[in-house]
Amino acid sequence: MAERDVVFKVLRYKQGETVPHYDTFTVKTDENTTALVALQAIRRDDDPSLTLRHSCHHGSCGTCGMRINGEEQLSCVVNVQELGTPTVVVEPLQNAPLVSDLVVDMAPFFDRYTQPEMPYVRQSEFMPEADVPDGIGHYTRYENCLECGLCVSACPVMGSDASYLGPAAMAAAWRVVAEPRGSDPEFALNWADNEHGCWRCHVAYECTEVCPSDVNPAEAIMSLRGELTKRKFRRVFGLGK
Ligand code: SF4
Ligand code: SF4
Repeated sequence: MAERDVVFKVLRYKQGETVPHYDTFTVKTDENTTALVALQAIRRDDDPSLTLRHSCHHGSCGTCGMRINGEEQLSCVVNVQELGTPTVVVEPLQNAPLVSDLVVDMAPFFDRYTQPEMPYVRQSEFMPEADVPDGIGHYTRYENCLECGLCVSACPVMGSDASYLGPAAMAAAWRVVAEPRGSDPEFALNWADNEHGCWRCHVAYECTEVCPSDVNPAEAIMSLRGELTKRKFRRVFGLGK
């Protein structure tokens, strides 16, 4: 692909303003230009006040999440020319307080992980009592989450129920159930078992679709439901746990 000018329509907002607006910038791109690099070019060449977050530039830190042409993505791995649209619309994540331009406050996202019972960082292969029945994949399977917030932004229930526990935190709850590693699975199950928890999910899998890291939060929520249903059934019929 050749060099090409691409128009970026970027949501702008600063503290104290009543409503956001959009600014338009034209960026020279080549076949390697990512959305993050284009936004940094805008900051450098057109408007140094444009606010965005990023760190690693290669899809592993989870900090550069935003909505690009209406879809939650990590901007560092979005190839601009492959989007194939004459205008690229860039907006901040949804379902989080807007701080400035493309930056949202991630504190409510992390507040959903009840601490210390459901830690988002856990010991894994360093646990002395850990077993390796299935090789290294057994350890990494539930440690994929980047805490990027894309799933929370894409989830329609988050927009209608401010108390909803949300896909990322419930995926973390399921990993505590599936691999306790010193955490309490009963706590995680009870935490998710309420009207703002796993029963509130409407099972449309938007969260799983946007997840850049194969966490599959919707499947985790269904697993929580399955485990809770099994336990309730066993209790009703006096079969123990
Ligand atoms: S499947 Fe559930 S958690 Fe995922 S986006 Fe839909 S409502 Fe939200
Ligand atoms: S579950 Fe996926 S989309 Fe959600 S925070 Fe973790 S990595 Fe991001």
